[in-house]
Amino acid sequence: MATPTRQQPAVNRDNAFFFESLAQGRLTIQQCTRCHAHRHPPVPMCPRCHSLSWQADEVSGMGTLVTFTALYHPVLPPFVPGYLVGLVELQDGVRLVVNLECAEDEAQIGMPVEVVPQRYGDDLVLPAGYLPGAPHVVVSSTEALAAEGSLS
Ligand SMILES: [Zn+2]
Repeated sequence: MATPTRQQPAVNRDNAFFFESLAQGRLTIQQCTRCHAHRHPPVPMCPRCHSLSWQADEVSGMGTLVTFTALYHPVLPPFVPGYLVGLVELQDGVRLVVNLECAEDEAQIGMPVEVVPQRYGDDLVLPAGYLPGAPHVVVSSTEALAAEGSLS
């Protein structure tokens, strides 16, 4: 029997850069090139100045845990009961929903969180939140994977 996998995100022209960057081991956020405001989730037009011009800005991933929840019921494979979902406000002013990779009793609203790309499957890299300095697997860049022979 096949092992259940996580559902793939709905990738479109507006958010493709976000998931492509994650797959390369980088966290990028959409930034207006006119007023320089960051925005997430990605949308075609800046809500502040209405410019259609934007760039993918690589950010540090440092932020603060705004809130979180632990899911126990109903949990479908591949998730396990008690997995954490957090809302993190990055220092760049945008909020991301992430998988929170710590124990439930470690999570506290207002604590610092580092958001990093995390591999959850062969073709799935999503942002994940860690306690700053906590060990985590760094997603290799496409070039590094190719050099290792992991990509064909
Ligand atoms: Zn703008």
